[in-house]
Amino acid sequence: MTVRSITVLGATGSIGASTLDLIRRERDKWRVVALTANCQAQELARLAREFGAEMAVVADPACLPELEAALQGSGIRALGGAEALVEAAALPADLTLAAIVGCAGLAPTMAAIEQGRTVALANKEALVSAGDVMTAAVAAHGTTLLPVDSEHNAIFQCLAGNDPAHVRSITLTASGGPFRDWTLEQLAAATPAQAVKHPNWSMGAKISVDSATMFNKGLELIEAHHLFPVGLDRLRIVVHPQSVVHSMVEYRDGSTLAQLGPSDMRVPIASCLAWPERMDTPCDPLNLAAIGELTFRAPDEVRFPATRLCRQAAEQGGAAPAVLNAANEVAVAAFLAGQIAFTRIAVMVEEVLARYVPAAPVSLADVIAIDSEARNRSRLLLELN
Ligand code: NAD
Ligand code: MG
Repeated sequence: MTVRSITVLGATGSIGASTLDLIRRERDKWRVVALTANCQAQELARLAREFGAEMAVVADPACLPELEAALQGSGIRALGGAEALVEAAALPADLTLAAIVGCAGLAPTMAAIEQGRTVALANKEALVSAGDVMTAAVAAHGTTLLPVDSEHNAIFQCLAGNDPAHVRSITLTASGGPFRDWTLEQLAAATPAQAVKHPNWSMGAKISVDSATMFNKGLELIEAHHLFPVGLDRLRIVVHPQSVVHSMVEYRDGSTLAQLGPSDMRVPIASCLAWPERMDTPCDPLNLAAIGELTFRAPDEVRFPATRLCRQAAEQGGAAPAVLNAANEVAVAAFLAGQIAFTRIAVMVEEVLARYVPAAPVSLADVIAIDSEARNRSRLLLELN
């Protein structure tokens, strides 16, 4: 049996936990190189000890003393700060699971890509912001990029063995989130607690809010545009409340291939961990008779303008997706902190996008500078609010 090495960036999050749950079940097949978190020093130290990691890193340097204390005597290297995060991502690993939330994951994800091995990408904001800068690095280093996001993982599976030139369209399914059937008046009064209660998936707070605004689907449209370059006009979105069909590919002969599965991220994560093989997961098998009905409907861009804004940013290209992503990250944080109304998130993103039109980024440093300036401008808007 060959033992593969793995690094999990964002090990204490929802995707990180699902990944480590799968690794735990096949412990002898994996050697854990590095595990990272933003802070959560106790949890990170517990995981690093359990999996015998070589290195544990907290992105927030203020959390390093706690991590060091928790790892004392373990022989595991404890590091803190943004540079240490990149250092961990650059340690040789057969597979890197990029599961940090937000553009904060961009630099370490790029460091992992530069190894020229395999990167399983959950951190969609990194690809949305960096766009061509990231796909060019993937090509230049001969890296295998496997999509963890359930929709993209579904599309990746439906495309396997087929010539992309035969694709007529790709359809991303969207659950529609917890506010799918809410009126605009109700949306304006939506609270953070309501927004993070997703009907089908258990996820981190940021992606849960994105799911409620439909920015998640919009970001995924941009993600799909980079991963599967069939042209934006061939990318569609359909609302599918049951989250059973994870996405589909329609071919020119009229055949549509779909991937179905339980709404459990361990399924797409397992497909990346085992790729190109398959592995067992503890997930319940799909019971279609019990589910009974699969329904589909068109998205409503009046109540949920996010998908329209994301499509526009993708069409505009250049820096627009990075600006959109940064504004959304600031707006979501402000909503979660009770500073702005739910419906203000999309309004803020549209305002920042309209006023800040920097030149297209050509390097990682450019993307980070655009992200940072877009955040400053978004925060300024919050103060004027
Ligand atoms: P989460 O909030 O549960 O976990 C995020 C992880 O990133 C944690 O380990 C956290 O410590 C770390 N982190 C947070 N801020 C950081 C920072 N500034 N610097 C370094 N590390 C930081 O998030 P999640 O739900 O696991 O999502 C992770 C990524 O995967 C997101 O990009 C999300 O869009 C994507 N994704 C998640 C799901 C899901 O079901 N949760 C599905 C598809 C895609
Ligand atoms: Mg998804």
